[in-house]
Amino acid sequence: MTVEAKYLSRDAFAERIAKFPAVILPLGATEQHGYHLPLGVDIILAEALATRIAEATGATVMPAMPFGYSWVWRDAPGSVTVEARTLEDVICQTAESLARHGVRHVFLVNGHEANSATMKYAARRLWDHPDIKVWRLFYPNLTAVMAEHCESPNWHGIVHACEFETSLMLAVAPNLVDMEKAVREYPDRDRGYFQGGRPMGELSRSGVFGDATLATAAKGEAMLEIFTQSMADAVREVCAGK
Ligand SMILES: [Zn+2]
Repeated sequence: MTVEAKYLSRDAFAERIAKFPAVILPLGATEQHGYHLPLGVDIILAEALATRIAEATGATVMPAMPFGYSWVWRDAPGSVTVEARTLEDVICQTAESLARHGVRHVFLVNGHEANSATMKYAARRLWDHPDIKVWRLFYPNLTAVMAEHCESPNWHGIVHACEFETSLMLAVAPNLVDMEKAVREYPDRDRGYFQGGRPMGELSRSGVFGDATLATAAKGEAMLEIFTQSMADAVREVCAGK
């Protein structure tokens, strides 16, 4: 039985929501991820996690939001950026639509770090709504999970096309990863980026921040299991009123 709304009839959707009034809205981005990964990494990973969480909890997965705030990669081929306020509107209007159908909780499962602030503002905008709440899920305990399962350090706390994302992709969609093109790149720390407005897209030649060459499917699968469990717990607890 599918957990994805896009494959359900109206009645099948209503039946699932009557049983478990929560949906997962995967949030992604369409942006460059180095020479070795496709543009849709953040969509593909968010959808994969969303599906696993839904299978574990009974929640229903909405079609993924394919675009995010990707301003930093605006000049890299194929990358698309929408304004943060546009994404915030889409999240809120999606939730308000779903509230009319008995959905009580929308869980944002995010694959793109730069969506995080927007998710918070959307959740705040609807916090006082009488019928529906928005919840934010993004790779819980990321630092600790990476410390345990990845060999290479991340670049100043940022994960992009690195050992982490590449490992997750090898676990989820190995046919879309070209490990022969994977590289290691740690750009110099840049004041313009950290304290000014310079886009990180100007810092890395390959588009990789970290060491993608160390990625394995086993690392990815281990981390996915941890994230799935933790996010599924969050969904169950919220829906049980905890
Ligand atoms: Zn990514």
